[in-house]
Amino acid sequence: MNLSVKKFSKIVIVIFVSLQVGVYAFGQPAKTKMEFTVAMENPANYLYQVTIQCEEVKKDWLDFKIPVWMPGYYQLLDYAENIIDFKAKDKSGAEFKWEKAAKNIWRVYTNNNDSITINYQVKATRNFVATNYLDEERGFIAPTGMFMHVNGYLNQPVTVTIKPYPKWTKIATGLEPLPGKAFTYLAPDFDVLYDSPLLIGNLEELPSFSVKGVPHYFIGYKLGSFDKEKFIADLKKIVEAAVDMMGDIPFKHYTFIAIGPGRGGIEHLNSTAISFSGDGLDSAGRTGMLSFLAHEYFHHYNAKRIRPIELGPFDYDKGSRTNMLWVAEGITAYYDELLLRRAGLMDEEDLLKAYRSSLSAYENKPGHLFQSVTQASVDTWSDGPFGRTGDDVNKTISYYDKGPILGLMLDFKIRHETKNKKSLDDVMRTLYKNFYQQKKRGYTEVEFRTVCETIAGVSLAEFFDYVYTVKEIDYAKYFAYAGLDIATRPVALPGAWTGLTVRQKSDSVTIANVEWDSPAWHAGVRARQLLLTINGEAATAKIVEQLQKEKEAGDIIHLQVLQDGVIKEIPFIAATKYERPFAIIRMKNPATLQAAILKDWLKGK
Ligand SMILES: [Zn+2]
Repeated sequence: MNLSVKKFSKIVIVIFVSLQVGVYAFGQPAKTKMEFTVAMENPANYLYQVTIQCEEVKKDWLDFKIPVWMPGYYQLLDYAENIIDFKAKDKSGAEFKWEKAAKNIWRVYTNNNDSITINYQVKATRNFVATNYLDEERGFIAPTGMFMHVNGYLNQPVTVTIKPYPKWTKIATGLEPLPGKAFTYLAPDFDVLYDSPLLIGNLEELPSFSVKGVPHYFIGYKLGSFDKEKFIADLKKIVEAAVDMMGDIPFKHYTFIAIGPGRGGIEHLNSTAISFSGDGLDSAGRTGMLSFLAHEYFHHYNAKRIRPIELGPFDYDKGSRTNMLWVAEGITAYYDELLLRRAGLMDEEDLLKAYRSSLSAYENKPGHLFQSVTQASVDTWSDGPFGRTGDDVNKTISYYDKGPILGLMLDFKIRHETKNKKSLDDVMRTLYKNFYQQKKRGYTEVEFRTVCETIAGVSLAEFFDYVYTVKEIDYAKYFAYAGLDIATRPVALPGAWTGLTVRQKSDSVTIANVEWDSPAWHAGVRARQLLLTINGEAATAKIVEQLQKEKEAGDIIHLQVLQDGVIKEIPFIAATKYERPFAIIRMKNPATLQAAILKDWLKGK
């Protein structure tokens, strides 16, 4: 946790509060004392017991609030719903009257008392990186769902004492321990507290390692069985590759908090909460897991510190929307693969394959004709991080697919325009220095573009058209900057193309998906219809698959489907499917500059 972040959030939050509430018109509100105690007396009940000791705020009433989201996970989470048994008392134990002023606000009529004790319980049944969880084996605290703040007092220091279930011995967190007090932590303000999850249990700690004198810890629950020494050696190489590139480490320690097997990870200021299992790490799953860890680690630069201006100070009541997740998430996804290569953990072929897979995922969804990557960023709050699912025509894309490709194109373009003297690395370092370190704030969209164009030394109008519109991308031109060929010419696939995918459950076959713009689509076949027969035969998943292999373009396919109790006959003509392979390979005879760009890009220069 870097001091400049703290100072920055304080200044801005005070202004924000005085505008929003009008109560603290002059300067900073008086200091409060906020002390939390979190107990877990009976983990089998999935309930945490929280006590807040709040001192030195004298008002007629106080609003105690819980956030509605966790920064890094851009979805509304109904944390308030999990809070039960709310009580507010004075020193003598007499209860204050309180009411719900909004779904996430408990208004307590404190009548100018300056010592208030709040008690509540938190239901913790969902095992996920953004939600609280508790069972007989471990507890995970998602701080935005656990700790209430007093409205207007986000910038106050907080202490948190955890009372672990008696059989548990260890806590993993990025918070600073308070010396001399067991399991007690200090956060300089609520922004830091909300960015510091805690995992409690009989946890396993892998050997720590230091980079530039800064210790990095890996602690977790059910880590699994794998070569732990080799894993830590690889993780250290990834951290070193990221630090080599950025040149600075903005905290005193960092913790990878592994919450157990599952899916997902969320970046925090000096920690990350990740779903993790080491089983399978010594085989095929290794690269995927390492690039996931590289992704979360690189986020402490890109997203937490190099950040869109909308992402901090956060709006804990509504969520913070931005056009720029293609940078915060997409460019992080670009670097998570590249850092593995630079760390010597991925070969060139696998690196190019990884980018090809993002590129194909983007191009092969009809959403790429409808939604720009900035729109996907804003709409993530309703569509989800990977775009919408379940629609007849999917009109959305994922910034996790298009973002890394834009990152790669921007990198190649800058290298080309500067004769390989500058790169996207320079953009990241400049944003870090100019905005995080000097201006102590996020960048605006215009500022991001200005930094890119200043470093490239040319207008990047065409590139930013790809960002803000759905214009077809000239991949060949951008890949050629690094002496790479990309196969963009459509290739005919064998067999008869219908566009159908079916799902069979015992004897019943359902249309699972119909590709947009396919022959079946144009004939009116839709997902969720029941498929009775195909070319006169009773449908099975195997027959449908077989038929598409054996028939040819021009052949008639006749379906009988059941929809809303009505049998429909649907004939259509199969076609040929063309697909752009997007395979990326080295050019046979690259020019000197092209060869130099590829070489330095792969090395991290
Ligand atoms: Zn991410």
